[in-house]
Amino acid sequence: MSAKKSYQKIFELMKEHHNWFNDSIPLIASENIPSTAVREAIISDFGNRYAEGWPGERVYAGCIYIDEVEIICNDLAKKVFNAEFADCRATSGVVANLAIYSGFTNPGDYMLASSIPNGGHISHGKKEHYGTAGHVCGLKIEHFPFLKDDMTIDVDATKKKILDMGVDGKSPKMAMFGGSLFLFPHPVKELSDFMHEHNIHINYDAAHVAGLIAGGQFQDPLREGVDTMTMSSHKTLWGPQGGIIVSLQKHAEIIKKSIFPGNTSSHHLHHVAGKAVALAEVLEFGEEYAKQLIKNAKKLAESLVDYGFTALGEKRGYTQSHQIAVDVSKYGDGGTIEKELEASNIILNRQLLPGDIKAGRNYMHPSGVRIGANEVTRLGMKESEMIEIANLIKRVVIDGEDTKKVKKDVTEFKKQYQKLHYAFDGQLDAYKYISLVKID
Ligand SMILES: *Cc1c(COP(=O)(O)O)cnc(C)c1O
Repeated sequence: MSAKKSYQKIFELMKEHHNWFNDSIPLIASENIPSTAVREAIISDFGNRYAEGWPGERVYAGCIYIDEVEIICNDLAKKVFNAEFADCRATSGVVANLAIYSGFTNPGDYMLASSIPNGGHISHGKKEHYGTAGHVCGLKIEHFPFLKDDMTIDVDATKKKILDMGVDGKSPKMAMFGGSLFLFPHPVKELSDFMHEHNIHINYDAAHVAGLIAGGQFQDPLREGVDTMTMSSHKTLWGPQGGIIVSLQKHAEIIKKSIFPGNTSSHHLHHVAGKAVALAEVLEFGEEYAKQLIKNAKKLAESLVDYGFTALGEKRGYTQSHQIAVDVSKYGDGGTIEKELEASNIILNRQLLPGDIKAGRNYMHPSGVRIGANEVTRLGMKESEMIEIANLIKRVVIDGEDTKKVKKDVTEFKKQYQKLHYAFDGQLDAYKYISLVKID
C-alpha cells in the first residue's frame, strides 16, 4: 500500500469502528464511553508536552497551565475519593500498581493476591505467567483463599494463611485486594487490622470499581483500612485510559517518587486533563450513575437467569457491582460464544471462572463470559432495556438464531441509545467521529 493509501485507510477504519460501535451493544466490563468534553481534552496540545515531576517542581519549562490543570485533577481525585493524597500521573492501572509494588516492596517479598480465575488481574500475577508483580518486581505471589459460593475472599482462611506463611518465613509484605472479576466487595475491614498487625501494606486495586466507589455505592476502602488505592480511569470511571493512585498522606512522598522518576517519564498530560474533566463529571453525576449502574447489572443478571442462564453469585443476588459472570458451559465455551455475540453486534468478553484451570480449561476457551453494564448505563439505559439485552443474548446463545438476523435487531434497538448521559455538555452523540482533516 502506498503511503497515501495507508494514510487514507487508517481514517477509513477508524470511521468504520465508530459506525460499528454506534450500532452495537457495548458490554465489556472494563470499558466505558467518555464524554465529548473528555475527548476534547485528549486532543489538546497537552498531549505533546513533558512535565516530569510534581506541579511547581517540574523538570521541564512550559508547564504553567499544565500545572494548574494537574493540581485541579489531584484536588478533584481527593474530593471524589475522600482521600488525603492523590496522584493522577500513572499512565495506566498497571503503572499505578507498579508504582505501589516498587515503592512499598522489594524483590523477593511475598504478596497476597487473588488468582486469575478467582478474579485477580494479570498485573497481580506470578513470574511464570509474566504477571507484572512477579515478572517486573520480583514479588512472590500467594493466593487468597476464596469462597466460590460467596464469590469473595475467605476471611478466616486468609488469617490462617498469613500465620502459616509467617511460620515458614514467608510473611507477606503486601496484600492486594480488588480484581477484574469483581461481583461483591472484598473483606477489607474484616482483615485490615490483622494485616497491619502483621506489617502488611494493603493496596486496593479499584481498576474496575472506582466509579462505584466514587458514587458511594460499593465499599469504601480508605475508610476500611487500606494504605493505598490504585485504579484505572476508564472502566466504571469514564475518563480517558490511564491510572490514578489515592492514599493516606503518610504514603505521599513514596508514591510521588515512585511515579517519577520510578515508573514514568512523560505522564500523558492530555490524559491528565481528561481525567480532571471526568472527575468533575463524577463529582456532579457519579452517585446517580453508580446507583443506576448497579440496578442495571442486577436486572441483567436476573433476566438472563430467567431465560435459563447460570449466573455466578446466586446466593447473594448475582452482583453488587457493575458486572456479572455467566457460566455458559451448557451452550459451548466462552471463546466461541464471545465470537457469535460479536457477529451479532453484542460486544462482551470471555472469562475464566473459579475452578476453570483445575477443570483443564484455558483463557481461550473458558466456561464463562463477563458482562458489564457500565457503558450501556452511560447511554441512558435502565432496567427495562436490560431485559431486552438479555433477550438478544438469549436468542444468540440459547436459541442459536442466525447472527445476521439478531444483528439487525440489535442495530434497530441501539438507534434509541446514541446519546451520552451524566455529563455537563448535554446529551451529545456518544460515538460521533470527530473529523479535523479532509481525507480525499
Ligand atoms: C484493568 C485492570 C488493571 C489494568 O489497568 P490498565 O489501566 O489496563 O493498565 C489493573 N488491575 C485490575 C484489577 C484490572 O481489572
